[in-house]
Amino acid sequence: MFKKILIANRGEIALRVQRACREMGIKAVMVYSEADRDAKYIRLADEAVCIGPAPSGLSYLSMPAIISAAEVTDAEAIHPGYGFLSENADFAERVEKSGFTFIGPTPESIRLMGDKVSAKQAMIRAGVPCVPGSEGALPADPAVIKRTAKAIGYPVIIKAAGGGGGRGMRVVHTEAALLHAVQTTKAEAGAAFGNPEVYMEKFLQNPRHIEIQVMADTHRNAVYLGERDCSMQRRHQKVIEEAPAPGIPRRAIEKIGDRCAAACKKIGYRGAGTFEFLFENGEFYFIEMNTRVQVEHPVTEWITGVDIVRTQIAVAAGEKLPFTQRQVQLRGHAIECRINAEDAYKFTPSPGRITAWHTPGGPGVRVDSHAYANYVVPPNYDSMIGKIIVHGDTREQALARMRTALAETVIEGIKTNIPLHRELMVDASFVAGGTNIHYLEEWLSQRER
Ligand code: ADP
Repeated sequence: MFKKILIANRGEIALRVQRACREMGIKAVMVYSEADRDAKYIRLADEAVCIGPAPSGLSYLSMPAIISAAEVTDAEAIHPGYGFLSENADFAERVEKSGFTFIGPTPESIRLMGDKVSAKQAMIRAGVPCVPGSEGALPADPAVIKRTAKAIGYPVIIKAAGGGGGRGMRVVHTEAALLHAVQTTKAEAGAAFGNPEVYMEKFLQNPRHIEIQVMADTHRNAVYLGERDCSMQRRHQKVIEEAPAPGIPRRAIEKIGDRCAAACKKIGYRGAGTFEFLFENGEFYFIEMNTRVQVEHPVTEWITGVDIVRTQIAVAAGEKLPFTQRQVQLRGHAIECRINAEDAYKFTPSPGRITAWHTPGGPGVRVDSHAYANYVVPPNYDSMIGKIIVHGDTREQALARMRTALAETVIEGIKTNIPLHRELMVDASFVAGGTNIHYLEEWLSQRER
């Protein structure tokens, strides 16, 4: 096992990884920007290295700064967390070339899955069902583009091969709008992602977002750890996640889960990963794979009893997965609310000093956050300051626990989205379960009126 790991991230996930290291008897090196200098989790670390000023381009995204921090501290491995450099194949490559272990898949896997066109082709080869669409990237010939759309059937969605974070997509309803939409998306994709390639998919009208968590080792073992329902989204950003997904038959999940695990073996995947699907009319359609730990991993940890971060570290050190597919048993129901420093309804960021901080507790309540009273939320990064996760024997119990947990939570000095979560936890449709990916935005627009 490693003796020392460098954590190339910040905030709640940096603390989450630090906790796993501590539990495993591994020394944790934290890196931080000048904006995070005073954060408590930095002081809790065995060692900490300043890697630059507040803008992430000069700190958390600076490969040379992070690699030199690993060199000066004699770390053996680097955990990238999520966001920042976690899905950057060049970074993974530079980490390994510099003699460190990258706690994640190989650069080849990251590259394969990072390009949505090659990812989709690999998934089709591996027998994972995909959204009907163009075979690979769209060619230049307008006649072919029109024919492709006609064959798929309108509405279609034009997506950038290099896209991410919900950007680089355009829905097209008629042939008249098609060619212009393709050109615009290409131009935008070229400018934003450095890759003008686009592809076409059938636009699904009312899908749910269901994802499968996988975990693989370097000994050809791969298992799936059930699913998560992340349909409660705003601007393609997840707000609430839960597991299991309400109302989907176990047999359907087992079938798609087995396909995902088989695909991992086929592409030589290692570490944690997530296959994201749209789910409509009883069918799963692959949209993309995330080759890292996800924000919402705690809901899976709670229903499976598997420590995902610990397992990531163990398999990166060459250990075998400590469980087989059969040993993965789901228990109860878990829900996560992302706590953001923002106006609950206008969504304007609300950085600044937290003057009061009281987090909930009791049976089945987990809070993952690096914040505390007097902590200053810097304006430079993502607005998420933590997550409240609850578990219950049933979904009803989990909902009841989340309502209590949210009622107990006191955060003052900054605005948070806690009021939004309190409303959603008593919303009839959410309580019934199975809302689609448009539900939250429709709910918000009706609330405004
Ligand atoms: P990103 O990497 O930018 O998150 P995804 O491919 O995961 O892009 O898509 C993000 C979101 O866009 C999905 O969660 C879904 O809401 C919507 N979307 C993507 N593809 C389709 C599709 N074929 N039909 C309907 N909605 C889609």
